[in-house]
Amino acid sequence: MSLRDVSVAQLPGVGPKRLEAVKSLGINSIYDLLFYFPFRYEDMEVKSLDDAIDQEKILLKGVVASEPVVVRFGYKKNRLNVRVLVENESIMITFFNQPWLKDKFETGEDVAVYGKWNESRRSITGMKVIGSNEEGSIDSVYSVNKSIHQKTLVNLIKLAFDKYHEQIDSVIPQYIVEKYQLMDDESIVKGMHFPSNEIENESARRSAKFREFFLFECGIQSVKANDEQQNVGLVEAYDEKYIAKFNESLPFKLTNSQSKVVNEILADMKSSHHMNRLLQGDVGSGKTIVAVIAMLASVTAGFQTAIMAPTEILAQQHFEKISSLLEKLQIRTAILTGSQTKREHDTIVENIREGKTNVIVGTHALIQDSVDFKNLGLIVIDEQHRFGVNQRKALREKGNNPDVLAMTATPIPRTLAITAYGDMEVSRIDELPAGRKKIETYWIRSQKVEQMYKFVSKQLANKAQVYVVTPLISESEKIDLKNAELIYDKFNELYAPKYNIGILHGKMANDEKEDIMNKFSHQKIDVLVSTTVIEVGVDVPNATVMVIYDANRFGLSQLHQLRGRVGRGEKQSYCILIADPKNDVALERMKILTSTNDGFVLAEEDLKMRGSGDLLGSKQSGLPDFKVGNPIADFNILQTAQIEAEQIFKDPQVMNKPENKVLKLFLNDEFEQLNNFD
Ligand code: ADP
Ligand code: MG
Repeated sequence: MSLRDVSVAQLPGVGPKRLEAVKSLGINSIYDLLFYFPFRYEDMEVKSLDDAIDQEKILLKGVVASEPVVVRFGYKKNRLNVRVLVENESIMITFFNQPWLKDKFETGEDVAVYGKWNESRRSITGMKVIGSNEEGSIDSVYSVNKSIHQKTLVNLIKLAFDKYHEQIDSVIPQYIVEKYQLMDDESIVKGMHFPSNEIENESARRSAKFREFFLFECGIQSVKANDEQQNVGLVEAYDEKYIAKFNESLPFKLTNSQSKVVNEILADMKSSHHMNRLLQGDVGSGKTIVAVIAMLASVTAGFQTAIMAPTEILAQQHFEKISSLLEKLQIRTAILTGSQTKREHDTIVENIREGKTNVIVGTHALIQDSVDFKNLGLIVIDEQHRFGVNQRKALREKGNNPDVLAMTATPIPRTLAITAYGDMEVSRIDELPAGRKKIETYWIRSQKVEQMYKFVSKQLANKAQVYVVTPLISESEKIDLKNAELIYDKFNELYAPKYNIGILHGKMANDEKEDIMNKFSHQKIDVLVSTTVIEVGVDVPNATVMVIYDANRFGLSQLHQLRGRVGRGEKQSYCILIADPKNDVALERMKILTSTNDGFVLAEEDLKMRGSGDLLGSKQSGLPDFKVGNPIADFNILQTAQIEAEQIFKDPQVMNKPENKVLKLFLNDEFEQLNNFD
């Protein structure tokens, strides 16, 4: 019998009341109980005083240096004070309302105390004490509610484990367990709840994450398998030699990561499998060229291809890049945006309809009713999170089930949702082109703005180009504009006429914007003051300084995007954040940004800070509620799990192999409604 069918009531001491209590946590069966994992662990490793951070928890070890004293105060309150010698410093330890802990402190004996560190008083508010002859351990913390205590729950889990551990069957096929050196399910349960040490716990966590993602991906794959029976994509038989030659003609060599994703994309395009692929890569990782190669492949296979970008500036920039690369190969390119005259528009649309244009770059103007393609093979959606699901769908419907390549730099919830929905496969560029230097990021308060002016002067003297960005401060564009204009005036006052200062904002006409961007990319403008229109995708490799005013008004991801406008060439780049954070979260953001350049780390921090709960709103986004794994932080595990699950579903016979029996039963239970495994 499966442990999913054994009620918790089978455990000694579990009556109706306790049964209700565990049910309120969503635990019905022994299986549920065993897999109800702690949501976090206290870090119980002994630290040195040097590592103590004000108001953070720490475990310190020392020798009891004074008799513990219990002091009563207020009504029924008391506090226990004791001094402990840690690394030759006498530290005051205080426990509130736990007078019995007195017995744990024996003068002259070793002791370890876990608690909150107070830097100015050099003291600890104690939370836990480990005596000289006790073992320190990893503390598991469970999420419980009013009807059940941590301790009660832990005891139940212990009981269940002792009684049923031999019946915990591993659901992950053995060959996968071996390939990734995972624990079997019994060891996972043990290592998650009662690890003997950090290493065992780490390993259990890694295995539990994989297990969770893998089972989830198996569910997705089974849905997909159903889909695919009805969904045959285009076969784009591209010219391999031509593509290879093109790649060789590029001024740079593709990074390994870029080559890898190019291969994934081309393999999809060539097969009858319908491509619906998300290309993730941090800002500056070189997604555009990957798209261009895919588009060229589609053209050599005799199809039209379109790329849609969220802003005119970006569409224009793509158009310039793409046409300069492809026009010399006799490939006809065009750009379609909302700001063209009716005459221009009509001619372009006519050429697209007749198939005279091969490669079309555009904004959402591409999805207007008037636009018809002759034979659309591949669509690319840049910065895909900026488009609604409907807009993406509308573009797809311009062709007969064209392949889709969506690109994004921000692993934001929508992207996550896509990974999680599984309607897209994910390719990831996880390295930057060689020779890139880490962007140095500094944070200053607004009263120190003079320092920034000095720094910018120096950089300008070094021939650097500078972006200066101001956020949308108010709802009113007028006021925002004024803000940008004030800064523009200030920079003019400081640096003109020696240097050219430009300004860019949303109120400008498109050709005006284009003109400014052009001047900036051709180094006719040295300092570009801008509202956030430049946020997305803009690529001017010679720009090496990014100054962001009121940085505390932006989210982490957005700041990272903005910062990603520099650091695109081989020169050292800098980002200066001017901010007066008003609370801890804002302060934390500045600290994180100055400490890492990794978009995935930032996205994860962003999630943590906003509280994954409200950001994901799991019900709303349709994101499953992962218990152990974090789809952003553990993306690599998620992806591996996806690959393995996919592999299994490729071969319908695999499920009937004896080694997959447990998995098959499990999935049948879990995804009964899908009925896909018989
Ligand atoms: P993003 O991924 O942010 O869209 P881009 O595609 O705009 O990045 O590329 C950033 C810059 O890096 C561009 O100037 C591009 O030409 C350059 N680039 C792309 N791939 C490479 C490479 N393999 N080696 C050197 N530079 C590259
Ligand atoms: Mg881009």
